[in-house]
Amino acid sequence: MYPASFQVFIPASLEEALELLAKYGEEAKVLAGGHSLIPLMRLRLAKPKYVIYLGKVPGLSYIREENGTIRIGAMTTHGEIAASSLLKARNPLLSETASRIGDLQVRNMGTIGGSIAHADPAADYPAALQALEAQLVVRSVEGERVVGIDDFILGPYLTDLQPNELIVEVRVPSLTGAFGTAYEKLNFRAGDFAIVGVAALVQLSPDGSKFEKVRVGLTGVSDKPVRARGVEEALEGAEAGEEAIAEAAEKAKEGLNPPSDIRASSEYRLEMTVALTRRALEKALARARDKVA
Ligand SMILES: Cc1cc2nc3c(=O)[nH]c(=O)nc-3n(C[C@H](O)[C@H](O)[C@H](O)COP(=O)(O)OP(=O)(O)OC[C@H]3O[C@@H](n4cnc5c(N)ncnc54)[C@H](O)[C@@H]3O)c2cc1C
Repeated sequence: MYPASFQVFIPASLEEALELLAKYGEEAKVLAGGHSLIPLMRLRLAKPKYVIYLGKVPGLSYIREENGTIRIGAMTTHGEIAASSLLKARNPLLSETASRIGDLQVRNMGTIGGSIAHADPAADYPAALQALEAQLVVRSVEGERVVGIDDFILGPYLTDLQPNELIVEVRVPSLTGAFGTAYEKLNFRAGDFAIVGVAALVQLSPDGSKFEKVRVGLTGVSDKPVRARGVEEALEGAEAGEEAIAEAAEKAKEGLNPPSDIRASSEYRLEMTVALTRRALEKALARARDKVA
């Protein structure tokens, strides 16, 4: 189908983009990679009167490290995140997650800002961003605010973003010491969205004997990405090992009531949540152990 008619703006600066949003916000949509917005417009599920294309706004695509934080511009593509040597060294969870999104074309066009703003409950990044306790920098003509991922995604396709606001940056920690991470995704065909996705971060004590910090983020199992806090609490301070992981992983399904749909039943999603949590944590543990001197 063809989209309803709309007017396109191509701002040449962030200030211009923000002014356009301030003027047309309620009736406008920003266009990043277009891999979610364009299909919605073609189905006429989205009918913006104005489309503000971000592709010519300079300074929104970067990955850099500053004072223990990695800052990623909102227009950075999934492909750039997957290939980044900085992320592979300092935050491999994000690059591994990006490498599992869609196919090459989706990764070449789709952006991290677009994915987060779209808030698809089966999207991959949000699991990793939950595990990393990521922060988002949001701008409008009125100024800037920083919001945690947990407070930003409110429900399916629903965020805390106001009509006059843009996501400009994503902040994740630069990981050091005996850490290991892993992203496990269940999908039946390569390139599909996750039926269940689990992101795990494990930080070991310097001698490798204990779990110092554990974070687990889940996607596809709720109306928004969630942390498996029961698993985290069960493991933190425990002897680092596969037995503890097997026991704790059972807690991943606590409090969840995943949707049933054409791809998987709720019960299946619950069982896979436990299985993938265990697998992701085992992988993360093995990777952390490699870093213990
Ligand atoms: C065939 C196919 C397979 C896919 N598979 C996967 C998958 O396996 N896993 C996965 O996670 N995703 C998948 N996707 C989605 C893909 O990751 C999209 O690229 C992403 O969801 C949206 O990013 P975008 O840059 O294309 O955003 P757009 O489509 O341009 O925009 C999406 C929404 O975000 C808003 N927006 C965009 N940028 C900003 C910003 N900086 N600030 C505020 N609002 C903004 C737009 O107004 C719009 O509402 C797939 C998409 C396709 C077409």
